[in-house]
Amino acid sequence: MSGLPSPGATGEQISVGVLALQGDFEAHRAVLERLGVSVREVRVPADLERLDGLVIPGGESTTITLGIERESLAEPLRAFHRAGKPIFGTCAGLIMLDRDHLGLIDIRAERNAFGRQVRSFEAPLEIGLAGGPVEAIFIRAPWIAEHGPNVEILGQVDGHGVAAREGSVLVVAFHPELGDDDRVHALFLQGVRDARLAAA
Ligand code: GLN
Repeated sequence: MSGLPSPGATGEQISVGVLALQGDFEAHRAVLERLGVSVREVRVPADLERLDGLVIPGGESTTITLGIERESLAEPLRAFHRAGKPIFGTCAGLIMLDRDHLGLIDIRAERNAFGRQVRSFEAPLEIGLAGGPVEAIFIRAPWIAEHGPNVEILGQVDGHGVAAREGSVLVVAFHPELGDDDRVHALFLQGVRDARLAAA
């Protein structure tokens, strides 16, 4: 459902990009459209123009890294962050934002951290949202192995951070775009609206 544009906090439509180099960007697009924002797939730097926020989806972080290099997207993505625009990374997207990749959140992600035996699982996860835990779907997920003092860990599994926030960057190790609970995307969009109001 593409729906009618819903007014943003400043009366204009909110536009959110979804990095579409590889991975499950279409599922994110569907959730964001369900929540009433306009969505653009981002493949080259020019696609970032005039967006209010960006989602980096799950997929394969090595493939996404190669795509970012191929399209010279790293510096434009850092500039997007410096401009105060919120970024939301899920699973491989969390890895892309860490110290060893784009460096936009002060965490070190451990890839495939839950081990080969436990590649995928689903579990209720408390991340402080109204309405209680989210049903979190983990697929060969990373966890947060280290983090700096300004990073707020929002949720943990077995003592390992799997959801975190630092300033305008939100990351989760699971897949909130699968299933029908839109609350994590709604949290991200609240940050997008707040950032746009602050910049207006
Ligand atoms: N295991 C993948 C990686 O390391 C991430 C998995 C995912 O995004 N579902 O890139």
